[in-house]
Amino acid sequence: MRKTVPLYINGEWVESESTRFIPVTDPATQEVISQVPCATADEVERAVAAAAAAFTEWKEVAVPERARLMLRYQHLLKAHHDELAEILSRETGKTFEDAKGDVWRGIEVVEHACNIASLLMGETVENVARTIDCYSYTQPLGVCAGITPFNFPAMIPLWMFPLAIACGNTFVLKPSEQDPLTPTRLAELFEEAGAPKGVLQVVHGNREQVDNLLTHPQVKAISFVGSVAAGEHIYRTGTHHLKRVQCMVGAKNHMVVMPDANKQQVINNLVGAGFGAAGQRCMAISVVVMVGEAQAWIDDLKQAAQTIRPGAWDDPQAAYGPQINPQARDRILSFIEKGKQEGANCVLDGSHCAVEGYPDGNWVGPTLFTDVTPAMEIYRNEIFGPVLCVVNVDSLDEALALINDNPMGNGTSLFTACGAAARKFQHEVLVGQVGINVPVPVPLPFFSFTGWRGSFFGDQHAYGKQAVRFYTETKTVTARWFDEDIPGGPNMTINLR
Ligand code: NAD
Repeated sequence: MRKTVPLYINGEWVESESTRFIPVTDPATQEVISQVPCATADEVERAVAAAAAAFTEWKEVAVPERARLMLRYQHLLKAHHDELAEILSRETGKTFEDAKGDVWRGIEVVEHACNIASLLMGETVENVARTIDCYSYTQPLGVCAGITPFNFPAMIPLWMFPLAIACGNTFVLKPSEQDPLTPTRLAELFEEAGAPKGVLQVVHGNREQVDNLLTHPQVKAISFVGSVAAGEHIYRTGTHHLKRVQCMVGAKNHMVVMPDANKQQVINNLVGAGFGAAGQRCMAISVVVMVGEAQAWIDDLKQAAQTIRPGAWDDPQAAYGPQINPQARDRILSFIEKGKQEGANCVLDGSHCAVEGYPDGNWVGPTLFTDVTPAMEIYRNEIFGPVLCVVNVDSLDEALALINDNPMGNGTSLFTACGAAARKFQHEVLVGQVGINVPVPVPLPFFSFTGWRGSFFGDQHAYGKQAVRFYTETKTVTARWFDEDIPGGPNMTINLR
């Protein structure tokens, strides 16, 4: 592991001149594995200037050539898949298998970016007026910036810069300060794939560095993934500075269980979706809505949850890793306490979780609350830990009303054997990503990541066709070639003639 994390500016790996560094720690031990700088204002300025200068040339590079860069990149990412996953595991604590999934879901976006030529295709209509044709092009914006969270340090940077760059933009990435080593390796491999100088830069830090990007006149578009509070600030500040902004933020995802569902599948899927990655997924299931007789399955859920435990990233028996830092663990523990005080029934309590050999890890065991009501704090907040809240209802209509009243709209799922119930649910639920007997319905990259309502600020979503729209401007050309004089003198109307 590197002692300090370098910045990547104009094709050079440089040590920051900052005097402020943030320790990067192993969440299973608290061992400091690296130090990440808070880049100086001058360094952020140089990163944006390098991206702006590189844009002049990069936008002229032929589209198939840009696609070939992505082809080489996806090949290198696959060749380094396990190495990337190990770096990721060491700085996040994720189990090795889950870390591989994090890398893989990013690689899929790069595969998608290899197809950029067809994604950039415009539209044409011949003869919009006599002898006049109309056609559109998609052209890049310029310098785009991305600000990413700790919980998917491979996948989420890869949601952003490959597509933005394939579209002809240049990019400044500001990764999470909690796990910057994986994005650093991603950038090294991008360089190795043949990315020209200045096409991608990586700067580090937190709010101050983000603010420098949000207010910089040469940054045209901002992609953000992270918490609601940071997203609100970024959306307001970025749009105030007249930039294009997309913010994918927090969640409270409900899984509805109908009594006709396959019980064993429900239990298995709930354990994976509720406790996997220590609950630190924006698409984690955090609320189980048991409809009618499905309420009898809570004891089975508890039994299954009891059989799993957290552990170190290289422990093959560990179901998930530690929380990212002690503050995150303490916040979760205080929610568990609050849940007990406000009258929920804590049938499985992971507050006092110890992992042999790792006394200092940020461990929280699987925790299950029943008799949760929508008024409770544990229902109203994104806990972002391995805590499942069970709410009981009598009907699918009641489940839908509950979900649609919740301010968040990232993901949801329904487990049922009834097609009509599934059809009703997918049609009526006000959530942007719906699973039918699929607990974590994260769309593949040829679709887009379409969180709704309080989980998203903006209009064009991450990856897929929507990201191509986000990272490009449409130019529409209306053209006529004269091969004879047009009778009638000047056209004094707005109509084409
Ligand atoms: P976070 O908001 O604390 O940090 C995300 C990024 O924003 C980091 O790079 C951080 O340095 C920066 N940042 C933090 N506070 C800032 C501020 N006030 N101003 C400007 N920049 C700021 O989020 P996190 O803890 O790293 O990630 C967890 C959150 O991300 C959860 O809420 C989760 O639901 C959300 N998330 C959402 C999605 C999605 O697609 N909707 C995906 C993953 C994570």
